[in-house]
Amino acid sequence: MNSGLDDGLVLVGDELEAAAEARDPAPAAPAARNPRSALTDDDRAALAALLGDAVRFDEPMRRHTTLKIGGPADALAEPASVEATRALAALCVARGLAMTPIGAGSNLLVRDGGVRGVVIGTRALRGLARLGATGLRVEAGVSTGKVLKTALAADLGGVEFLGGVPGSIGGGLIMNAGTYLGELKDVTRTVTTVRLADGELVVRDNAACRFVYRGSALPPDELVVAADLELTPRPRAEMEPVIKALRQRRHDREPKKVSNSGSTFKNPPGEFAGRLIEACELKGTRVGDAVVSPAHANWLVNEGAARAADLLALIAQVRARVAEVHGVTLELEVKVIGED
Ligand SMILES: Cc1cc2nc3c(=O)[nH]c(=O)nc-3n(C[C@H](O)[C@H](O)[C@H](O)COP(=O)(O)OP(=O)(O)OC[C@H]3O[C@@H](n4cnc5c(N)ncnc54)[C@H](O)[C@@H]3O)c2cc1C
Repeated sequence: MNSGLDDGLVLVGDELEAAAEARDPAPAAPAARNPRSALTDDDRAALAALLGDAVRFDEPMRRHTTLKIGGPADALAEPASVEATRALAALCVARGLAMTPIGAGSNLLVRDGGVRGVVIGTRALRGLARLGATGLRVEAGVSTGKVLKTALAADLGGVEFLGGVPGSIGGGLIMNAGTYLGELKDVTRTVTTVRLADGELVVRDNAACRFVYRGSALPPDELVVAADLELTPRPRAEMEPVIKALRQRRHDREPKKVSNSGSTFKNPPGEFAGRLIEACELKGTRVGDAVVSPAHANWLVNEGAARAADLLALIAQVRARVAEVHGVTLELEVKVIGED
């Protein structure tokens, strides 16, 4: 699949997405071998034989998360096709290697001890094609920004809410990413996954995905590889001001120049996590370089060299205080993976 639809339209916030797209975190030299790695020499050789340059060993995950935090993955594999993803799953099953899917790492906190087994990144699953008059078939690694641009160029509406939301479509579907203008569940027709236990493809319709606020029932032992989205005809000239306003609003409110993963906690029903945290006078509270952003209390950010342990300690502190003052237990929006 190939889009051929990117017409260079520039919108407020594009520079961030362009930087994320261009990011090639490949290190100049391979990382040092991690003594905690669960991979044998044979495992390493088999993965390298299957994936060539698309696998890196002992790869620091801080290079792959917007928080810039995280210890080494035993292997980070980035298969370039659905078939290669299935073959990788088969190899991991045969060798008893754990598999952990990730997207663009924009909602991910990786613990300092890293991730045992194989982290499967979707960055190289980049197919994007029109499907009939109003549909798009999108592979998991395509960025939300690219989907938005493609829809605009085709005079198709429904994804304006993605303005300024980073990440991949695969991660977005797991999270049901969205803003006050809408969420991915509103435009999703089907989601295709690879079942990691046997490499089989599974196709679910929208109802079977059971999307909820910032989540879905897509099983954790499946990897999203593609989705069919259903959009609605809408002139681009009508959509552009809506998207620009959304992006400008975000730009004005969001912390700048610090590593982050957006909102740390989900909003409790009928409330805003940020309001509850701010009312506890926690803005600016820090553990090491992990800080409750003075600009937005629901953004717990990395001001430089924060470790996962610092951020997790800050999260625990904020949760305890909000529970004490408001009687509300905040639920994490950011996903935590890996070991201490
Ligand atoms: C500056 C900033 C602003 C943000 N604003 C918003 C916002 O307005 N609204 C919003 O909803 N979110 C927002 N976020 C959070 C984030 O952008 C979304 O949650 C996004 O959808 C995550 O996508 P990702 O590809 O980065 O997923 P990742 O962070 O890589 O992964 C998220 C979860 O999905 C799983 N996963 C990822 N890809 C796959 C796959 N292909 N198959 C199976 N599992 C997978 C991972 O294991 C993990 O559990 C923001 C983040 C940042 C940094």
